[in-house]
Amino acid sequence: MDLTLLRKELADAGEPCYRAEQVWEWAAKGVRGYGEMTNLPAGLRERLAERVPLSALALATESTADDGTRKALFTTAGGKPLEAVLMRFRDGRRSVCVSSQSGCPLTCSFCATGQMKFGRNLTASEILDQALHFRRIEPVDHCVFMGMGEPMMNLDEVLTACERLPDLGITHRRTTISTVGWIPGIEALTAQEMPIRLAFSLHAPDEALRSELMPVNDRYPLHDVLEACVEHHRVRRRKVFIEYVMLGGINDRHEHAVRLSEILDPKVFKVNLIPYNPTASGFEGSTPKAIEAFRAALAERGQPVTVRLTRGRDIDAACGQLAATG
Ligand code: SAH
Repeated sequence: MDLTLLRKELADAGEPCYRAEQVWEWAAKGVRGYGEMTNLPAGLRERLAERVPLSALALATESTADDGTRKALFTTAGGKPLEAVLMRFRDGRRSVCVSSQSGCPLTCSFCATGQMKFGRNLTASEILDQALHFRRIEPVDHCVFMGMGEPMMNLDEVLTACERLPDLGITHRRTTISTVGWIPGIEALTAQEMPIRLAFSLHAPDEALRSELMPVNDRYPLHDVLEACVEHHRVRRRKVFIEYVMLGGINDRHEHAVRLSEILDPKVFKVNLIPYNPTASGFEGSTPKAIEAFRAALAERGQPVTVRLTRGRDIDAACGQLAATG
């Protein structure tokens, strides 16, 4: 819901300011129409129904994976595509994975989003609309900024959206912003007050390999990003999650695990190994055996480490597969 438009329409109708918050509260609870907003005068409900759509995004297609994961493809009012995913876990967790941009200007070699055309930054309302879409289906309690785009390149809108996520049932502590290592964004996240989790997509334990996989490393080298993460932990007292996509024969050898354990302070970082999800990039995922050996090598060295559960791969909804192809 475009909250700026809502406020303007309410002002034009001569309504008091608190009406905007009333409408928002209903929207955040997952209502499907103005008709359900029973503490609003009937005339106003009709007027708003004509002028302020419940969502600024149009749903183009939606699919459900065998594991219950749902992926929605939306378009903005100007026709830019973006995707969002609802992950359902056995323990009851419902996690919404949202996009911060239509496409992505960065070109990480293994990621499908980097191959599509970059559209633009999404507004806070467009980000919230993705979460609201799933909230209208069922209660949600986690949010990860791991969809399309680099959230730290659009941090103001991302944080404005975060401020409102608790109204949907998603606390700041259950919200994670993932970054390629965009240092100005990490510093800005450190400086603000919401206890949001920081995740860093590392993917290589040394500068040369990382630059090969992620061109952004030339601009913000691994060494400097890790320093910004350590500072984040010092100030915010929350562990930084490291994402490490397992590419067969590329970054999954024993020596990589050893090097990784040397550059990461186990008091600051927790590693999440991500099985590679197929894209057109030409990489191959590490074998389950290689992933397990890598995990064990880190664990032996005292490094907290888990392997990420793959969700939604059969509908191209898994990490790195979002490319607005429906
Ligand atoms: N731009 C931000 C937010 C996207 S998060 C970031 O990169 O952190 C999406 C996560 O999926 C990132 O960790 C990304 O590196 C990872 N990823 C990209 N392509 C992937 C693939 N093919 N398989 C598994 N993970 C992938």
